[in-house]
Formats: sequence, C-alpha cells, structure tokens
Amino acid sequence: MSFPERAGLDPGLDNGGYCPCCRSETRFLVDQAWLRDHYICTRCRSIPRQRHLQTVLDARFSGWEALRIHESSPSSDFIGRFAENYTCSQLIPGVAGGEFRDGVRCEDVEKLTFPDESIDLFITQDVLEHVFDPRGAIKEIHRVLRPGGAHIFTTPKHPGLIQTVQRARLSNAGTVEPLLEAQYHDSPIGDGRALVTYDYGHDFESLLSTWAGASVVTVNTVDRSRGLDAEFNEVFVIAKPLHYPHHSSQKLINRLQGSIDTRDRRIAALQDAVTELRESTSWRVTAPLRATTNRVRSLRKRPS
Ligand SMILES: [Zn+2]
Repeated sequence: MSFPERAGLDPGLDNGGYCPCCRSETRFLVDQAWLRDHYICTRCRSIPRQRHLQTVLDARFSGWEALRIHESSPSSDFIGRFAENYTCSQLIPGVAGGEFRDGVRCEDVEKLTFPDESIDLFITQDVLEHVFDPRGAIKEIHRVLRPGGAHIFTTPKHPGLIQTVQRARLSNAGTVEPLLEAQYHDSPIGDGRALVTYDYGHDFESLLSTWAGASVVTVNTVDRSRGLDAEFNEVFVIAKPLHYPHHSSQKLINRLQGSIDTRDRRIAALQDAVTELRESTSWRVTAPLRATTNRVRSLRKRPS
C-alpha cells in the first residue's frame, strides 16, 4: 500500500516519541507523501533510514560506540558523534584511495585501501545502489571486516521486482553506459547527484549471501514511537563468520582421504609381503605368514 493510501487510513504522522539519532524525546512530523525522505525528527532532522540503522546498532551491537567503525559516504554525523573509533570516507573523483582532500579521506568501496580484518563495523547508507560492481564492493567490505564484524547498511530493495536490474555500467574505457533511463539520487559530494546503477529486487539477499559468503539478516521495523516507518525501510546486516564452516570441513575431508590412501598403501604392502612369503618353502616363514595374513584380515574388517 502506498503512503497516500496509508495516510488516508491512518493520518497519525505527527507523533511524539524517542529519536535514536539525537537520543532525545522528540516530535516526528511528515509534510510530504514520501516518508523515506520527509518523516523527520523535529530536533535533529533525521529521516527514517538513519533512525532505523541507529536502532539496529543499539539493539544488535550493544557497545558499538567503542568499536572500530568505518562509514562510507555518510550524509550525516549521527553515527560519528557517538562513536569513539569512527572514520569515514567519500568517493572523490580525481583523488586516489587513502588520500585526503580538504580533510576528507577518499575511498572507493570497490577497491578499499584498508588492511584485511581491520574494521569491526562497516556502514553504508544508500551507497550500494550507486556502485558499478556491487559484488566487488561486498567482497572488499568483507575483506576489511574482522571475523565476527558486520556490514550494516541501507539500500532500496524494490517490492514486486523479482530480479535485480542493472541500470548502468562502466565500459572498459571507464565511461558510463546507461542501460535504462538515467536516475539520480541526491549526493553530498560532486555535482550533488549520484547515478543509480542497480535496482535491487527480491533476489537481493541471495545475491548478497553469495557475494559475502555469509547469510543476510533483513530488519524491517515499523515503530512510529521511534520514528520508524517508511518505504524501502529495510536495514541489512551481514556478519562476517568467525570461521567459515566449509573450510574446516574441507580439512576434515582431506584428512580422511589421506587416511584412506595410507590404509590402502599398507594393505598393498602387506599383500606383497604375503605373496613373497607364500613363494617361500622354508618352515621359518610359517609363523610370520600366519601373523601377516591375520593382520591383513583385521585391517580389511576395520571400518574406513
Ligand atoms: Zn532526532
């Protein structure tokens, strides 16, 4: 149901409550028929996705304020103002990754310059719909996350869109090639607008799981007492596993394979010995022959 229809049923969009962004009692107001950008906190001007992300941090990452946090392309200081180890970056055309311009660090989420496993929480708000290689971006983010860390983010997931659609791509020469009519969102840098490269659909979480090698938790909270209600309301959380289960299973498989090989080699060696002994006529071989034959029998009976 679209917002105007909902508003007709429930016009209660001037409500008091608690804002997780300014951590204060406040009043939430909406003045236009698009909650995602216009359902604001009258104290800090935060919008629903910012409050929702902050709510997910508070609810699921208690003590997050002390963690090493990096936020890519922030549009506010709502997270930075509470975090002790917070860094942020923007993608600045003409500036190399890791370099600064006017005190702002440049980073491309598709080619981060941070060392492996150096960040506890990586935050992106409405960034992934603007990258040309979301798979590369997710892989990079998970490279720099420490095991047990998490990528927490918002991006529009389109209801009713079964399959993700690419809207624009980069040619080999580095020029932007539109695949569909160009769409832009507001951006805090450059000419103030950012091209939409992907419309994510119903398959979004499956794609994310494949790219990250980890499951995705999709959080959708509707709670107007915290100013949480909007179109495209999801906050996604991908925790980096402490260890990848398939790695340890592969090790176990290799070990079992090795022991089977060893067992086969031992049986073959014993069989050779038996053949040699059988060819002998000396009474001195009778006892060892019996012992060896028994040993082969017991090895064959042992479960592999
Ligand atoms: Zn507020």
